[in-house]
Amino acid sequence: MSSLSKSEALEQVKQSIMQNQVCPELAATATQLVFGSGDPSCSVVFIGEAPGKAEDKTGLPFVGAAGKFLNEMLGMIGLDRSAVYITNIVKYRPPNNRDPLPEEKKAFLPYLQQQLEIIQPSLVVALGRHAANCFLPELRISEDHGHPKRITLAFSERKLTIVLLPLFHPAAALYNGSMRQTLIDDFALIPEIIKRSTQPKLVLNNN
Ligand code: URA
Repeated sequence: MSSLSKSEALEQVKQSIMQNQVCPELAATATQLVFGSGDPSCSVVFIGEAPGKAEDKTGLPFVGAAGKFLNEMLGMIGLDRSAVYITNIVKYRPPNNRDPLPEEKKAFLPYLQQQLEIIQPSLVVALGRHAANCFLPELRISEDHGHPKRITLAFSERKLTIVLLPLFHPAAALYNGSMRQTLIDDFALIPEIIKRSTQPKLVLNNN
């Protein structure tokens, strides 16, 4: 994997989801796999729940109403979605946009981990409880949103320490005035968190 570019390595992960026939019932009702999009060399990854109708149609994450709101919030903090990477835990649209089932999240988790292992972000923004609970099952989004947490992801051959920022899901906040403002306020924390999380670590000479 090391001789591949990040884009090539991600493409391999995408192919392996199809070859391994992950969640065949979801694949059967979905139009296509929605793997992820953006810059694989970025330092910030946004993770949602699962594709909706617009994502299923286009093959791209967050392109419907929630995606437009996400784009707006990225714009508010001076970021364009092409400069970050956006994906979901579950990569096929659940029928009628129902919540992803625990076994569906579990089945897709290794592929999400592979995406993170390849991209090696310093900040992971979890959009909603489904994404946040993948990393911290005890986390309660109503209490923990906007509070960055340093966590270590253990991959097969290495570990990666990242900052996890749990946020409300844009679709939940879209039509709820107070949640919407809270999400916008939490989003405004991102530039400072990026600055802090990407600062080179101090290495002492005698270490
Ligand atoms: N909601 C999500 O969680 N992901 C998408 O891609 C779109 C809507």
